Amino acid sequence: NLTERLQGVFKNLRGKRKITENDVLEITKEIRVALLEADVALPVVKKFIRNIRERAIGVEVSEALNPAQQIIKIVNEELTAILGGGEAELLKSPHIPTIIMMVGLQGAGKTTFAGKLAKKLKEEQNARPLMIAGDVYRPAAIDQLKTLGQQLDVPVYDEGVSENPVNIVRNGLKFASEAHNDYVLIDTAGRLEIDDKLMNELKEIKKLANPTEILLVVDAMTGQIAAQVAKTFDEILDISGVIITKLDGDTRGGAALSIREITGKPIKFTGTGEKLTDLEIFYPDRMSSRILGMGDMLTLIERAQANYDQEQQAVLAEKMMDNRFDFGDFIDQLDQVQSMGPMEEIMKMIPGMNEIPGASNIKVDPKDVARKKAMVLSMTQAERQLEVELSPARRRRIAAGSGNSFIEVNKFIKQFSQSKDMMQAVMNGDMSAMMGAMGQ
Ligand code: GDP
Ligand code: MG
Repeated sequence: NLTERLQGVFKNLRGKRKITENDVLEITKEIRVALLEADVALPVVKKFIRNIRERAIGVEVSEALNPAQQIIKIVNEELTAILGGGEAELLKSPHIPTIIMMVGLQGAGKTTFAGKLAKKLKEEQNARPLMIAGDVYRPAAIDQLKTLGQQLDVPVYDEGVSENPVNIVRNGLKFASEAHNDYVLIDTAGRLEIDDKLMNELKEIKKLANPTEILLVVDAMTGQIAAQVAKTFDEILDISGVIITKLDGDTRGGAALSIREITGKPIKFTGTGEKLTDLEIFYPDRMSSRILGMGDMLTLIERAQANYDQEQQAVLAEKMMDNRFDFGDFIDQLDQVQSMGPMEEIMKMIPGMNEIPGASNIKVDPKDVARKKAMVLSMTQAERQLEVELSPARRRRIAAGSGNSFIEVNKFIKQFSQSKDMMQAVMNGDMSAMMGAMGQ
């Protein structure tokens, strides 16, 4: 699937210090195939790849992130942008009732969504919605809506299957106006395929009801078909938003990508199950990390950026390159890493970490870190800056001053030199060497 493919791509990037134009071409080729396989429409894929190439080739070198992380960041940002950027609110009419019309193919989840939305409005806004049963072609559809209404204690206006849906909507709106309902949710009929009769009926209902929202409900599992359906419905009805259902299970949301880009209309909610509580506001950034399958990695990138003091890091990096990294710098480095959160947590967030033997057993004891800090603080300036040899006499003094044993001080000094190796590995972006050094 898309997520696995992308993770494969990012895996190849791991350990690289620089990303060449050639790398970018390779990566984007893989992403292209991955997106096409995930049923994302070709024009959308093309545009997306173009954006990634432009940004990735001219990528500014950031001290906080390694090249693979930078690419992930770019891909994530572009995905989020294509998915709409921010969340899109449900519109509300300045005067009651706010009329919301559900449209879409049969089985997409319109009736279920109407129920979910009624529940949400009731609970969150204390609203008094009315649902209108406008699907007169299947008796079961009316019963389904009535059952939902009973469950939710929400009134349902219906005239059985005998009437014309346009008349039902007209009468239903009159009913709502008398009952002072603040929301009217119109459930409409769907077909297995788009046809003129259905579209004309929906156009008539639209003209009559002048809804605040026309929400197209599409089934995520239908992929590119969903995007095509969305395009047609939008051309004919000028929809105001999209609801993507059945995003539970394995569906990764390739449809979401196409639909937003092709219609330009916001995705407002997603359905994530059959239960009435399985409704979620659509957040483009969350969907992006879902598509990428690397939510944790993205969190890590955010934290690394937020907490990283770039200037200080540049100084440390320079020192490391000249092999001038000393005990004082060691403490600074510890503080920086610690500000990102508990070490074990950081470890878990790095993709591929579980492939490195023993990596999952790493435990970082905060007491141990504090002990090391105490030892450095017990050193003289000259000792910290490695200007003098740390003789046994000096080591004994550091031990006494910091409340540690001579053995512990020796151990720490040995670790320090190993950590210099580790830093070297980090500088080279060599993750497995870094883990090797950390494991010690
Ligand atoms: P309609 O024909 O568009 O009104 O579709 P329905 O609301 O009757 O839904 C069709 C089927 O899809 C029903 O079995 C629903 O329970 C199911 N369904 C609707 N939304 C979701 C969802 O978000 N996830 C899952 N798994 N099933 C859903
Ligand atoms: Mg229905």
